[in-house]
Amino acid sequence: MTPPPEPDTVQVVWDPVFNRYDFGRWHPMAPVRLDLTARLCGALGLFSAPGVRVVSARPADDDLLRTVHDPEYVRAVQAASADPRDAQEVFGLGTEDDPAFPGMHEAAARIVGGSVDLGRAVLDGRALHGVNFCGGMHHAKPGCASGFCVYNDAAAAVRAALDDGAQRVAYVDLDCHHGDGTEAVFWDEPRVLTISVHESGTTLFPGTGFADELGGPGALGSAVNLALPAGTRDAGWLRAVHSVVPQLVSAFAPDLLVTQHGCDTHALDPLGHLVLSLDAQRVAAASMHALAHSAAGGRWLALGGGGYEVVDVVPRTWAHLVAEAAHRPLEPSTPLPPEWRAHVEESTGREAPRSMTDGASGAFQDWSSGYDPDDPVDRAVLATRRAAFPLHGLDPDFD
Ligand SMILES: [Zn+2]
Ligand SMILES: [Zn+2]
Repeated sequence: MTPPPEPDTVQVVWDPVFNRYDFGRWHPMAPVRLDLTARLCGALGLFSAPGVRVVSARPADDDLLRTVHDPEYVRAVQAASADPRDAQEVFGLGTEDDPAFPGMHEAAARIVGGSVDLGRAVLDGRALHGVNFCGGMHHAKPGCASGFCVYNDAAAAVRAALDDGAQRVAYVDLDCHHGDGTEAVFWDEPRVLTISVHESGTTLFPGTGFADELGGPGALGSAVNLALPAGTRDAGWLRAVHSVVPQLVSAFAPDLLVTQHGCDTHALDPLGHLVLSLDAQRVAAASMHALAHSAAGGRWLALGGGGYEVVDVVPRTWAHLVAEAAHRPLEPSTPLPPEWRAHVEESTGREAPRSMTDGASGAFQDWSSGYDPDDPVDRAVLATRRAAFPLHGLDPDFD
């Protein structure tokens, strides 16, 4: 008999089989981003730390996929997966963003299996927190692939939590891009609050996610969007996140908090135009963790997401996330293990970063200290607060 898990167990999904989610050599969503992240977590001792359990996952079955995807779309993915020449663009498959590849169905369904299992483990108390940095496929829609995302593991985990008895689930999306797929799945669902903080759709894919997008008529206020100007830096982004997310999530009082930590917000990311440091992303992860404890009984499922700077950014950001969830936050000055740096340099030909910081402070000013209506970040925050806060009984102007 296996002993019951420790109550403080943090479950992390990883298995090299996740490297099979591979759109091909020239695609930005390269599996090396996951591989280097896992190797860094291992080299830092996070995967072998007491209270951390690393688990693999099986592909979600068709019934589970159909809780958030149309049956004909699942069939189309299976056909394209068996023979990529059968990919149909009407389902977003075989496109530049989502080229079909052999085994695509299993690879994408495995990410769903991982996130759903983690959410269930967190909800029923087998794990305190869960991290799936392979997940966060937030652009996948009920009926089509989009933006490198085939199946929406985040939405499936939220849906499974509701099906397992959760009364309310909050989903916070910190990716550079609008979390449009997850939002679409729950557009008319008042039991799910989706909040997306992202670069404005005026300058970035998918072109949506403005303050006036609030959810369907029966669920008004259940979708919240904060569209930040391109060029927003650490202090502005952190101020924006903290001026909207904790207030709404606390008011909503969810049974489970699901967060998406796409790190394409970083200054070095080749796709987005936000200008964040690793340090801002680390501070945000710590805040989401604290929020899970204060507002959701500690039940926290943290997912990865976008992130295309595969050496300097993705591995360090998500190693910080795993460390945070494991209640073993890393000092920013932590040096990177020499064996990891050597592997990076051998396998990519690039110089590896030296420590777990970009040297930024992660400091920001709280909304309660006042706001400047002429500042473009504050204007974006105000637009979101004025649209969404009254629907949750909150004061849009003042905390
Ligand atoms: Zn993204
Ligand atoms: Zn915790």
